[in-house]
Amino acid sequence: MSKTNAELINRKSQAVARGVGLAHPHFIESAQNATLTDVEGREFIDFAGGIAVLNTGHLHPTVKAAVAEQLEKLTHTCFMVLGYEPYVEVCERINALTPGNYTKKSALFTTGAEAVENAIKVARAHTGRTGVIAFGAGYHGRTLATLALTGKVAPYSSGMGIMSGDVFRALYPCEMHGISTEDAIASIERIFKFDAEPSDIAAIILEPVQGEGGFYVAPKPFMAALRELCDKHGIVLIADEVQTGAGRTGTFFAMEQMGVSADITTFAKSIAGGFPLSGIVGKAEILDAIAPGGLGGTYGGSPIACAAALGVLQAFKEEDLLTRANTVGETLTSNLNQLSVDFPVIAEVRGLGAMIAMELLQDGKPAPELTAAVVAKARDKGLILLSCGLYGNVIRILVPLTVPDQQLQQGLDIIRDCFSELAG
Ligand code: PMP
Repeated sequence: MSKTNAELINRKSQAVARGVGLAHPHFIESAQNATLTDVEGREFIDFAGGIAVLNTGHLHPTVKAAVAEQLEKLTHTCFMVLGYEPYVEVCERINALTPGNYTKKSALFTTGAEAVENAIKVARAHTGRTGVIAFGAGYHGRTLATLALTGKVAPYSSGMGIMSGDVFRALYPCEMHGISTEDAIASIERIFKFDAEPSDIAAIILEPVQGEGGFYVAPKPFMAALRELCDKHGIVLIADEVQTGAGRTGTFFAMEQMGVSADITTFAKSIAGGFPLSGIVGKAEILDAIAPGGLGGTYGGSPIACAAALGVLQAFKEEDLLTRANTVGETLTSNLNQLSVDFPVIAEVRGLGAMIAMELLQDGKPAPELTAAVVAKARDKGLILLSCGLYGNVIRILVPLTVPDQQLQQGLDIIRDCFSELAG
């Protein structure tokens, strides 16, 4: 007999540690492009993309073919033991795609958190300093070192004590919540007065658009001021593009739209269309600060994940997915802006390219319950959404860029129906 969601959820609760949550009570059997099918045969439109992993959709034919071809040849040597071309090719391609008018090098890993950890290691080795400045509501991962950088306690580090790591927290600019670019820069100057000299700071790390934090876009003047601060004090500027990268924002990396370039960029998620690949790319002299043996890992840049990434890059080129990201972004923005006129509880629609979110406020205050209700109702109507934000009151959209127009509109219509029923 086929399995039900209820049976599988029961087995999960018996076998899987409860810290591994489940946003939606469904188990998925298969998926294609922007459509998910659960174990009971129910279909959903995927506006979550496995948290920004599926810019090219589920099982993109080009990615699938690249992986299938690689599977016939080689799955593992460990790149630190014996080389293989796809690893080098991914690095060459990423070096060429990353903004910054300097010679670049890359290194590959498996998860976003691992990329962030290695970016910090490289910055420490390059500067001989240990301090790092990260931002409130920033998200950089769940491993021990990245948790220190992640600027949201519950649920990520609740019950685990104070995180170590010489991390100082600055304010991310967010006009909507009363933090201007000047306030944000002043918060860094305060760190230099109260906590640590600039000469003890190895790196400043930020997301050009905060992902888990609520899709707040860094203003260009803020980025320019950060670049200036880093140049003045010899601090490494790290752009965490794990969520913003691989075309989500309408350029391959979001930093292309920010007026300045970072010294190191992290990438993961959609870079390999569902296969575990991450990496760091940056100034050659900074990446080369660590001696042979200091970077790597058993599975980092596995042949299969690299083949998938090369498939993703091919799909981007052949299908002009950067242009598509902007088209999808415009459709999302215009629909959601209209929705916000009809339902004032939607206080703001914002984002970059196809990385679009709406923030819900009731009586001027964050509305996490309504947000959760919209997400649950949308699911019951066949649309998978994700919430985010420091206050859990933001609905974010990370739909595959390859979604057919008609399905995109269907998803947006479901969102409208949810607001009509819940906030009408
Ligand atoms: N950095 C950012 C900006 C992210 O959005 C995430 C994941 N949401 C991470 C790092 C961590 O990536 P992973 O979950 O693959 O470790």
